[in-house]
Amino acid sequence: MRKDDSAPPPESGSSVSPDRPWFSRRSTLVVGVAALAPAALAGWVLTQVLAGSGSEGQQPRPLPASHAAGSPGRDAKSGSTPSGSPTAAASTPAAAPVPAPAPAQGPLSGKTVVVDPGHNTGNFKHTDEIDQQVDIGTGRKECDTTGTTTNSGYMEAEFTYDVSLRLRAALEAQGAKVVLTHQQDRAWGPCITERARIGNEANADAVVSVHADGVSAGSRGFHVILPAKVKGGAADTSKIVEPSRELGERIAGNFARTTGSAPANYLGSGTGLVVRDDLGGLNLSTRPKVFIECGNMRDAKDAAQLTSPEWRQKAAQGIADGIVGFLGG
Ligand code: ZN
Repeated sequence: MRKDDSAPPPESGSSVSPDRPWFSRRSTLVVGVAALAPAALAGWVLTQVLAGSGSEGQQPRPLPASHAAGSPGRDAKSGSTPSGSPTAAASTPAAAPVPAPAPAQGPLSGKTVVVDPGHNTGNFKHTDEIDQQVDIGTGRKECDTTGTTTNSGYMEAEFTYDVSLRLRAALEAQGAKVVLTHQQDRAWGPCITERARIGNEANADAVVSVHADGVSAGSRGFHVILPAKVKGGAADTSKIVEPSRELGERIAGNFARTTGSAPANYLGSGTGLVVRDDLGGLNLSTRPKVFIECGNMRDAKDAAQLTSPEWRQKAAQGIADGIVGFLGG
């Protein structure tokens, strides 16, 4: 992400931990173990499984090729009509509705997850629109931003949409109802206010906004952004701070496990967790919500991962496993 969220928050080094020592100790331990000791990590993973993360051993549902190509895929077909003869079409003018496939049963049955693909690949063509100021309760901010790119031009918005489709597939395989905030079906946006509203109006059990960072080379790794406690205007995060922290903790641990990535080395004090009070998408959320910055697009080693479809599948699976742990564990 850029502008809206790429600037590191003031790093006091204590923003994450002092008021929640139990959490801090655990998250530091978990992430530190994941980075440093594979054998211990295996034990930790087992602990997670026994604790009921529930998704181990289940294969992620393969994505149709159309997903990998970035098209809307499944949804593009939903309104299609038979390509048979006009006679055949005319004989069934009422076109019996095709029953929706039965949702998969799993630990997320009955749960709704909203997935927010950060930015939009069209934003850079609509800077006037996305630069409009919107009310985030605690202040005003741009409607949306362009996001960053790798040095070779792979857009953050392409990355976030691809991971979001993979994440949707993984969550649906666990029985969840998944709502995307957009499907690259609009020229720009949506604004951060609308992204938050979609999660709220869906009564989402969890919301994840997918991003990648754009900071200097040498800065590496992932981090999960948690909502700070804020109150102002339409913003009041008092009820989501705690569950969002648990959601973020679950996602960080599982993301480290599935991708092998380490927590960011440039913020978060090695925990892979950062609290921020300046993101409209978090401030305006009434549902448990986090952002994840999957890596640094401006670092060559991170970029090599972010541009790999195989790595993006691991990233999506890690996020999905974290959500399963949060909702179904
Ligand atoms: Zn972003």
